[in-house]
Amino acid sequence: MTQHLLVTGATSGIGHAIALAAASAKMAISFSGLESQCDEIVSEFQSAGAPYVAYYHADLSEGDMARDLVTRAHADYGSLDILVNNAGIQHVDRIEDFPTQAWDKVIAVNLSSSFHTMAAALPLMRDAGYGRIINIASVHGLVASVNKAAYVAAKHGLIGLTKTAALETADVNITCNAICPGWVRTPLVEAQITARAKSANRTIEEEAHLLVSEKQPSGQFVSPQDIAEMVLFLSSPAANQVTGSHFVMDGGWTAQ
Ligand code: NAD
Repeated sequence: MTQHLLVTGATSGIGHAIALAAASAKMAISFSGLESQCDEIVSEFQSAGAPYVAYYHADLSEGDMARDLVTRAHADYGSLDILVNNAGIQHVDRIEDFPTQAWDKVIAVNLSSSFHTMAAALPLMRDAGYGRIINIASVHGLVASVNKAAYVAAKHGLIGLTKTAALETADVNITCNAICPGWVRTPLVEAQITARAKSANRTIEEEAHLLVSEKQPSGQFVSPQDIAEMVLFLSSPAANQVTGSHFVMDGGWTAQ
């Protein structure tokens, strides 16, 4: 039977790779982003093999929109098997300089939106007797870095939320897990590389190499495609007893 996967923030980066891999696995895809339309990406997922593709514009910093996204995606397709909470943003500042508005926005998008989508999805999954929830957290759900207070707090919170959902659904056929990537070279990270390169007067490639090597002993970025493969594994029957866990993909960052 065709599985229906909803992934948030799939117009770019990791979410896009997850939707593309799921499309290649012949899943039905619903995805969200901030753009008003996404016709090219819809065609890309269709060409990759998805039998059904639907795009939803949704600003997930609004709790009602996050809940509505799940309700609409479920109603339009008729079921929802897999929810991937991926949308995320970054803001970099010392705590004493961190604008309250930026703190509120990062917490809203990176943590609260997953609470809202899960609150909307869980009753539907309970009724169906099946569900897989995968939260894209970060190594910053396990360890901290300077100047990323809101991001680190949100990702630590997301791992706690994942464990709570796993316990609340342990006796039904629903699992909830998190993935914790290290550096992945997406637009979210490219902005940080560009800012650092400019202030240090280095080239983008020099700065990218320095940035990844500071944290990851492998000296390599994690690829969005590898994260997508982990999502497919966590959605597969082999992972039926995997719940409340987090999977670290970080080139050795947190082993140190
Ligand atoms: P990205 O910037 O490439 O993509 C972010 C996506 O989120 C986009 O589709 C964007 O439209 C969407 N988005 C942003 N704000 C939104 C909002 N208010 N409402 C709805 N959608 C919104 O970023 P990425 O690197 O692919 O990050 C995806 C996830 O992976 C994030 O949760 C991020 O924290 C996490 N992550 C990224 C890295 C990394 O190194 N890139 C590492 C660990 C975890």
